[in-house]
Amino acid sequence: MLVIKDLNKSYDTGKSKLHVLKGIDLSIDEGEFVSIMGSSGSGKSTLLNIIGILDEKDDGIYNLDGFPIEDLTEIKAAEYRSKFLGFIFQSFNLIGYKNALENVALPLYYQNVPRKERNIRAMEYLEKVGLAQWATHLPNELSGGQKQRVAIARALVTDPKVILADEPTGALDSQTTYEIMKLLQEINNSGKTIIVVTHENDVAAQTKRNVILKDGIIESDSFINQKVLV
Ligand code: ADP
Ligand code: MG
Repeated sequence: MLVIKDLNKSYDTGKSKLHVLKGIDLSIDEGEFVSIMGSSGSGKSTLLNIIGILDEKDDGIYNLDGFPIEDLTEIKAAEYRSKFLGFIFQSFNLIGYKNALENVALPLYYQNVPRKERNIRAMEYLEKVGLAQWATHLPNELSGGQKQRVAIARALVTDPKVILADEPTGALDSQTTYEIMKLLQEINNSGKTIIVVTHENDVAAQTKRNVILKDGIIESDSFINQKVLV
C-alpha cells in the first residue's frame, strides 16, 4: 500500500538546517494498523504529513498504492489526498458553523458528488460511528468523543485507502480514548489501513505494529500482540 525508502526531510530554520527525518524506510501493507511513537520533536507529525501529502520529502522514495509521490502539482496532490487518504487530528478540525452531517459530507462535495448522494452517504457514516441522532448538531454541541467520531466519519466517507491519525486521542479522557480506539479497531478489522501517531503506550498497544522514531531514524519496528478492546 505504502512504500518509503531512504526518505529525508529537513526544515530550513533560517540560520541552520534541521534534519528531522534521516533515511526512513517504512513499508505498510493494506489492512495494517500501525502506531508511530517517539518523543516530542522526533518527527512523527512530519512523517505523517509527508505520508499524507501535506508536506514534501527532500529526497528518497514514497509510493502510495503504486503511485510515486514526487513533484506533484498542488492539484494532483489534492486529488491524491482526496482519493487515497482520510485524516483525523487531535483537535478534530471540524467546521464550527456546519452541523455534523455537513462536516461529514464535505469531502464528497470536493469530489463533486451530487448533494442528495452526499447526504445519504454522510448519514450512513454517521450511523457507523453511532451518531445518526446528532446529525443536525453543531460541533460545539458535541462532546470531545462525539466530535472525534464525526471526524472519523468524515475521514471514512470517501472510502480512502489509508486513514492517518495524528494524536487522535490526545485531547480525550481515558474512557473516551478507549471508545475511539475500539472504533478504530473495528474500522481496521473491516480492512482499512490505519496509521496512528501517539505518545500513549496504551494506544500503541491497541494497534498491530509499533514503529518508534528517535533522532530522525526508525529505532524499532515490530509487529505486536494487539490488545483487543471489547
Ligand atoms: P513530533 O510530531 O514528533 O513532535 P514534528 O514532526 O512536529 O515532531 O517536528 C519535528 C521537528 O521539526 C521539531 O524540532 C519541530 O520543531 C521541527 N519542525 C516541525 N515543523 C516545522 C516547520 N514547519 N518549520 C521548521 N521546523 C519544524
Ligand atoms: Mg506531532
